[in-house]
Amino acid sequence: QFHTIKYEDLKWDESLGQGSFTRIFKGEKTDYRDGEKHTTEVLLKELDPDHKNCWESFFEAASFMSQISHKHLLHVYGVSVHGDKNIMVQEFVKHGALDLYLKREKSLSVSWKLNVAKQLACVLNFLEEQSIIHGNICAKNLLLVREEDPSQGISPFIKLSDPGINVAMLGKDVIMHRIPWIAPESLAAPDNLTHECDKWSFGATVWEIFNNGNPPLQGWSLEEKEKFYENKQQLPPSQWTELADLIGQCMSYDLAFRPSCRSIIRQLNSLVTSDYEILHATESVTQ
Ligand code: ATP
Ligand code: MG
Repeated sequence: QFHTIKYEDLKWDESLGQGSFTRIFKGEKTDYRDGEKHTTEVLLKELDPDHKNCWESFFEAASFMSQISHKHLLHVYGVSVHGDKNIMVQEFVKHGALDLYLKREKSLSVSWKLNVAKQLACVLNFLEEQSIIHGNICAKNLLLVREEDPSQGISPFIKLSDPGINVAMLGKDVIMHRIPWIAPESLAAPDNLTHECDKWSFGATVWEIFNNGNPPLQGWSLEEKEKFYENKQQLPPSQWTELADLIGQCMSYDLAFRPSCRSIIRQLNSLVTSDYEILHATESVTQ
């Protein structure tokens, strides 16, 4: 069902750290096409041996990612199995994860953030059309392919990465760590992911982007996070009313109130950056 890559055709370079259940490396993959040797830069995600019982779920993510194609969806080349090693081979993205980038580059403009939010909405809409639920949308899982260069009229460009192991396979603690990205209904029913769950995560991710990559509820204990959902609390609203509105709709505890992708895109398109700038100009005057 999925493309397998020979372990011998992979070259392992430096470690890029760890994911939730993975070790991450930069590497290269070699192909032979028409008798010619080609090498491609890749990212290698090796499933932790402690979680090797989750390999099916891990490969399921690799499988859907490699079978569909969209400009804002990360390309997965295939999987490689060697002994008890399970490896996902994917496109290497130069500027890495968006949460880290946002934290590093403190002065990204509102239009930069809005642009990225629109790109995420675009791939969310595509996945819904394909009846695919992602299940792990957050700024960490957005990768920055291209930086903005206003002097050349170049906009930032992001891709959504794979969701990893399905939520249904995760322990309660791991799930609680994902508050507030994971939809509240998933705490009680982690095996019942819906498109509405992705809408909630989308809202939390947009919040995160506009908060310069600082994670919502940073420093909260798991009990406090769980209480946050039990009490049906909301993240502090953005000063930008229209944006706060959209995030609020997405992060609505009642699934029926979460907007359609069409509505999300329409609302994002109607946000005018200059409104935000005027708002902040008046704020600094009154301070
Ligand atoms: P999870 O399933 O929780 O998302 P993961 O295994 O995908 O876990 P991440 O924490 O998402 O791991 O990613 C770890 C780091 O690896 C990121 O911060 C990023 O810097 C880097 N990274 C991940 N994917 C890529 C990629 N395709 N290209 C370049 N860097 C990447
Ligand atoms: Mg990831």
